[in-house]
Amino acid sequence: MSILPFHVQNLSLHYGGQSAEALSDINWSAPAGQLSAIIGPNGAGKSTLFKAAMGLLNAQKGQVQFFGENLDDVRGQVSYMPQRTAVDWDFPVNALDVATMGLYAQIGWLKRIKRTHKEQAMAALERVKMADHAHKQIGALSGGQQQRVFLARALAQNADLYLMDEPFAGIDAKTQDLIIDIFHALKAAGKTVIVVHHDLHSAEGIFDEVLLLNKRVIAHGAASEVLSETHLKTAYSAHG
Ligand code: ADP
Ligand code: MG
Repeated sequence: MSILPFHVQNLSLHYGGQSAEALSDINWSAPAGQLSAIIGPNGAGKSTLFKAAMGLLNAQKGQVQFFGENLDDVRGQVSYMPQRTAVDWDFPVNALDVATMGLYAQIGWLKRIKRTHKEQAMAALERVKMADHAHKQIGALSGGQQQRVFLARALAQNADLYLMDEPFAGIDAKTQDLIIDIFHALKAAGKTVIVVHHDLHSAEGIFDEVLLLNKRVIAHGAASEVLSETHLKTAYSAHG
């Protein structure tokens, strides 16, 4: 089994009705057991890359492999956290229900949720300091609290690879610190974490590896090398 947890090969994706490709011939693999960031301006295709990888969108060309396998063969090992703004928070579930969803791959859809599953979900809520809010409706929580619950769902799954789309968007400083601590704990446990991130200034302090993206790969490698002025100018210029 390949040790590459996330391996993107020649991936191109063109949305119907758009004049240009959203992703053009992307090649990148995230180093195992490291914290990686995907950075690029709005519309760079960061969310599209995750969605294509998770099979939520069909790419015209290329593929993404997880641990050297197709997603369907290792789905339980891969945890995906969508962008918070893309989720319907009016859905009538409480925080514990959401955390429990992380266990569905283990439980099996339509099977009974047992006490041990609830305990696992509760432990995940405790890790993100949301146990006190377990029975609150998800829509009644603040942005930072919703993000924590979302993270608890990802943690409950106990995956080996975590894909997280903008976990730091619209949250308070305390939640940001907590999430960063959890990333480091995941790394210490040998897990691989890939985060779509938009704050260039904090990126170097948090992440080992950076993929700089604007529809195509602008640069990738050690954070300190990728986040150079030249690269950033290319990535953030109007023409990408
Ligand atoms: P990012 O996450 O980097 O901000 P996205 O992946 O969301 O960027 O979007 C990349 C490009 O694809 C943008 O130009 C966006 O407008 C376009 N796009 C995203 N979703 C769709 C869609 N469902 N249909 C058509 N175009 C889309
Ligand atoms: Mg996005």
